[in-house]
Amino acid sequence: ILSVKNLEKKFGDLTVLKDISFDINDGEIISIIGSSGSGKSTLLRCMNQLETITSGTITIDGKTLVETKNGTPVYAGKDVLKEILMETGFVFQNFNLFPHYSVLRNVMEAPVCVAGVSKKQAEEKAMELLKKLGLETKADAYPCELSGGQSQRVSIARALALEPKILFFDEPTSALDPELTGEVLKVIKSLTDLHITMVIVTHEMAFAKEISDRIIFMDKGVIIEDASPDEVFSSNNERTREFLGKYH
Ligand code: ATP
Ligand code: MG
Repeated sequence: ILSVKNLEKKFGDLTVLKDISFDINDGEIISIIGSSGSGKSTLLRCMNQLETITSGTITIDGKTLVETKNGTPVYAGKDVLKEILMETGFVFQNFNLFPHYSVLRNVMEAPVCVAGVSKKQAEEKAMELLKKLGLETKADAYPCELSGGQSQRVSIARALALEPKILFFDEPTSALDPELTGEVLKVIKSLTDLHITMVIVTHEMAFAKEISDRIIFMDKGVIIEDASPDEVFSSNNERTREFLGKYH
């Protein structure tokens, strides 16, 4: 459902992603781990059209987001880019909720304004999602009235509202204290029965090991490992061992 080939991303002279290639199958849960600055967020931002790539190919659900011709990246047309955006959901570290909208409106916003769903239908769906995430009593609250864990659950509900085929998470718990981290990880785990493809950048190693079909370990813009949790956690690669060693 997601295919990345020979992806390269430079900021000026700095190469942040080097020859990144991987494939993710429909329904797979992938964790991306790696040190600070290894390029994990940049990689996700390239999927989300928040960054333009330097070269390579990205295909999402059979649609080519970008391919490289004669060394130049060529992006899909506006309509295809929008289709791809509507098939992908993003959850960020800092929640990114609209502060002046209620919780309910935050979740309804994209279906109504981007996908053209009727207000009534969007509200029904939003309430259903809020209920699933244990937030039904918070529908009329404003983001400033929520705890960090609740805010993150709202942003997960918002990402789910467009019924994405792929959900990307960029360190969804790193702004939370340990108790709230557990609460949000539990919610993410509960999403696995929706059979949505999930790509999760995380520093929670036990969680990654438990939830993932595969773990990708990145170091300095390169993929060092792309294998099952058991294989990655028992890898003989020096860089992998050094990185994982920091978590014991
Ligand atoms: P962390 O675990 O700290 O979130 P990361 O793996 O997500 O790290 P990135 O944020 O992708 O790392 O950054 C990778 C590299 O790209 C870093 O060296 C960073 O300084 C650089 N970088 C990121 N965004 C930009 C930008 N807009 N302009 C220039 N350099 C950037
Ligand atoms: Mg990051």
